[in-house]
Amino acid sequence: MTPELLRGPFQLRLVFLATMSLLAGTLGWLGWRLLQQDQQLSAQRMAERREAAADLAVAALDRWLAAIDQDVARLLAAGEPPKEAGDSALFLEFRPGTIRIWPQGQLLYLPDLAPSSEPPAGLFTTADQLEFQKHDYLGAIAALRHPAASSDPAVRAAALARIARNYRNAAQFRESLQYYQQVASLGVIPVAGMPAALAGALGEMAVFERQNDRASLRTTAAALARELYSGRWPVTLATYHYVVQEAVRWVPEAGHEPAQAMALTEAVERLWEQWHAGAALLVGRASAETSAGSVLSVWRGSGSRLAAFVAGPDFLEKQGTASQPPGLVLTSPDGRHVLGKQTAPGQRSAIRLASATQLPWNLLVFDANDTDFTAFRSRRALLIAAMAILLVMIVTGGWFIGHAVARELAVARLQSDFVSAVSHEFRTPLTTLCQLSELLKRGRVANEQDKQAYYDLLHGESHRLWRLVEGLLNFGRLEAGRMRFRLESLDTGELVRQSAAEFAQAQQAAGHCFDVETASTSSVVQADREALRCVLWNLFENAVKYSPDCDSVRVMVAGNAQGVEIAVRDQGVGIPRHEQRRIFEKFVRGSAARESNIRGTGIGLAMARQLVRAHGGDITVESEPGQGSTFRVLLPVKRT
Ligand code: ADP
Repeated sequence: MTPELLRGPFQLRLVFLATMSLLAGTLGWLGWRLLQQDQQLSAQRMAERREAAADLAVAALDRWLAAIDQDVARLLAAGEPPKEAGDSALFLEFRPGTIRIWPQGQLLYLPDLAPSSEPPAGLFTTADQLEFQKHDYLGAIAALRHPAASSDPAVRAAALARIARNYRNAAQFRESLQYYQQVASLGVIPVAGMPAALAGALGEMAVFERQNDRASLRTTAAALARELYSGRWPVTLATYHYVVQEAVRWVPEAGHEPAQAMALTEAVERLWEQWHAGAALLVGRASAETSAGSVLSVWRGSGSRLAAFVAGPDFLEKQGTASQPPGLVLTSPDGRHVLGKQTAPGQRSAIRLASATQLPWNLLVFDANDTDFTAFRSRRALLIAAMAILLVMIVTGGWFIGHAVARELAVARLQSDFVSAVSHEFRTPLTTLCQLSELLKRGRVANEQDKQAYYDLLHGESHRLWRLVEGLLNFGRLEAGRMRFRLESLDTGELVRQSAAEFAQAQQAAGHCFDVETASTSSVVQADREALRCVLWNLFENAVKYSPDCDSVRVMVAGNAQGVEIAVRDQGVGIPRHEQRRIFEKFVRGSAARESNIRGTGIGLAMARQLVRAHGGDITVESEPGQGSTFRVLLPVKRT
């Protein structure tokens, strides 16, 4: 807001502010509505995308499971798996009392083919089916020589174990170890209900324990756990637990079972138990919860056989959902998390329930990336920026319009003030002229001395009128740019003295005295004599007009290499600081002038400034209200 605008009529400012607020409000509301709609649209697009992704994911998973199902059907028909199952997955076939698995080595233990309530078989203490167990050391040696021992590796393994144990009992540890190593080298051959590889290692551990050789114990226990977890050895659950327990006694870390293998093992065990319990497993897919995660089972059964495919969480992640949308989450039908990134509560998703899709899982698709919202956010930023720019443009435009209107109003007001001031200026001398000439015409002035005084007055007033008209004409010419200057070398000091003398003479009635001081330095300038006289007269006239209580005016002329300065100082009413710049504008009159009814038209200083500037100089003012004013005319010195 400019001071002009603030000074403008109250209604104008009110209308301007109301229009601006209305525009800004409308713009803001429109923008807000637009943003809201855009946000709704983005949310709707994202929801549609989620739904489409969910449908695609269901179809893809269904195709994938159908392909697995075909493989299982072929296995059931042909008895051989159609292909490698892959990591963390296996094909299996159950027949009464038999389990076949492809590939081998995926399970930590095998289901108990004929579950019994017997406690797990302890090493070398539980009676096994071999008669050699009842024999003593010599008996065992004899048994080794027995023809059956060489042809039946199980017989041989049991004999070796017996000898090793006897050596151990006799504290002949070196020999005992040698025999246990021989037992271990027999690998998968069963000894006391477990593979000889594990039985041998356990025997070695028993020897080390007797020897109190902890280092060897730890090494052997760790190796034993590795062997067990490799899934190479067919063991029962009871043996598995027994061996783990033995290994953990010496190496606690050995208790970390491989999760994927454990998940598969538990799932196979559960499938076996169901089948063995006589469940009608014809065709099916299920997600089984195990202690190590969710496992997928796909099976087909016929008569006394069951073929199945079992896959752990790793396989599901790598194969089943490899080409799925990144925001896919699978849960079991009872709501437990199976696969995919856990999401924050409240996040929107498309849901397909297992009951509706025939998949073994509930399927949820979340927004994996928020590209739509990112785009919305950037659109929102753009819109806000555009609205801000538009608002700034509207406010700036409004400000300029308001400014221009206020200016025009101010100019119109000034012009009307000017017209009334000029009329007033004319009326005073014209009234005097009329009255005096009337008196003289009617011969009412008999006295010659009075007549002469009246003639002087007539001359003075008509001269004043002439100067007034001349001033207005000059101003008109200046404004129209038609003023012609006749430049000549002028001694400013002399011109000032001369003008002051003439002015003082013409203003004798006012009684002001002019004190002119000229410096000794040269004050020659290149200027139009009449123009400079006009400037000086305007300044002198103002100094007299606006110093009603003080009758002395000081005029100083000083020159230097750059220019000449003429200062006109009075001790009159002074000019408030905020008016000092504007009094040089045309038609502008100061508050003091208007309030004190001091006559004037408001063009004197405007004209003086234009004239001085036309000579390459400038005019300034220093003033304090009540202290007087000093006007300085600066003219560039004549260059030779
Ligand atoms: P005006 O005909 O009103 O004197 P001018 O253009 O000469 O017009 O002056 C503009 C205004 O500047 C005046 O109305 C007055 O308020 C102020 N002014 C000019 N000279 C003086 C001065 N010497 N002392 C105080 N005020 C002055």
